[in-house]
Amino acid sequence: MQDNINNKTVQHPHNHQGCMQHALQAAEQICGAKGMRLTAIRKRILELICASHKAIGAYELLDLFKLEDPKAKPVTIYRALDFLMEAGLAHKIESLNAFIGCLQAETPHKSAILICDNCKNAYEIDATAVYESLFTLSDSMQFKPQCLTLELHGLCVSCS
Ligand SMILES: [Zn+2]
Ligand SMILES: [Zn+2]
Ligand SMILES: [Zn+2]
Repeated sequence: MQDNINNKTVQHPHNHQGCMQHALQAAEQICGAKGMRLTAIRKRILELICASHKAIGAYELLDLFKLEDPKAKPVTIYRALDFLMEAGLAHKIESLNAFIGCLQAETPHKSAILICDNCKNAYEIDATAVYESLFTLSDSMQFKPQCLTLELHGLCVSCS
């Protein structure tokens, strides 16, 4: 397996084939290790999500997938997305209601997502320190955190 893909380099023009290969190899390994079945459909949906760094919506995925399987239904896509998220291979961007592939699925991480409002590319960064400081604060309020969504909108280096 390749080295962890660094998001600082991913933002600049790069050989995206490497990102794709990394994500797909990690998917095979993770599913193999966890005994989760990476079916042809699930793998194809992951490929479509990872085709670029742009967040992609479920209906956009359906349109693309229908080119290959005209009988595909929304539920086909939603089931595959649920599986990919469960396996940690894709993440949902709540503020866009769209999805990105994970490029570091083999490493435990707590991420924040940087979303460029111009080109719509979305990059995941490890924000473990931010999570920890927020949990320390909520702890001081005796508040038990359940979920935390960190999505930062702005402009990427190519667009600013
Ligand atoms: Zn890439
Ligand atoms: Zn991730
Ligand atoms: Zn941009």
